[in-house]
Amino acid sequence: MMKKGNNHGSQNDDRMVGGQLVRNTILQQIPISEFDALRPFLTFTQLRLADPLQREHSRIQSACFVNSGIASLIVETGDGRSVEVGIAGREEMIGLPLVAGLSAYSQTVIMQVPGNGFTIEGSALQRALNALPELRGILIQRLGIRSLQLAQNAACNRLHNVKQRVARWLLAAHDRMDSDIVRTTHEFLAKLVGTDRPTVSVAMAKLEQRGIRRGRASIHIVQRETLEQEACECYAALQRFNAELGLESAIRRESDRPELTSPLS
Ligand SMILES: [Zn+2]
Repeated sequence: MMKKGNNHGSQNDDRMVGGQLVRNTILQQIPISEFDALRPFLTFTQLRLADPLQREHSRIQSACFVNSGIASLIVETGDGRSVEVGIAGREEMIGLPLVAGLSAYSQTVIMQVPGNGFTIEGSALQRALNALPELRGILIQRLGIRSLQLAQNAACNRLHNVKQRVARWLLAAHDRMDSDIVRTTHEFLAKLVGTDRPTVSVAMAKLEQRGIRRGRASIHIVQRETLEQEACECYAALQRFNAELGLESAIRRESDRPELTSPLS
């Protein structure tokens, strides 16, 4: 596996679970003693496209530290429409409501770009929260940032246009990926931003001259800076938390990194 040559701590890059390199930033941020205590309870899991990680109002049985890929927090309405209210990648533990003593999400969480993660039983997580203060502190911080993200998304979905929101989504996805190619379809993107396919296609055509190149079921981010000019202010507002989340969007990245593959291609 290619090793990233950026500013991550060398110790963090070497953490492994079941022979798998740990890229989840929560597992990277906790002290090594807490990581060692947690490791026996973590199970490596593939997260496939459109896998539901949590269903709204269903009891959360286990949590998952996302290691790669992108999950969407989605609210569905009775008439079959849906809109994304949050995006989560390797900075996230799916199952955050457990940290607040809640047993369910009010959203559905599905994989939007496939990847993998480390699951932990809910009961084991509860014991870990009691025994590992740094882990608990980081997860409480994640919960706080999530609530700020949800508020920004609520404003964005109401106030900003489709082109701005698609640009924002692509940048947020890019922050969470090891590739400049986002594998997704216009249909999926339309669902995420809560509109129809033709509207997304018009927005994508405009963005094609502004930093992206479209493939059949993929979008290549060619010029991040240009795309940033097209996104609404919400992207900058949310990006402020990237340092706490352990994401690296502010760092200009090379475009020759391994591509994240998806069955959509
Ligand atoms: Zn916005």
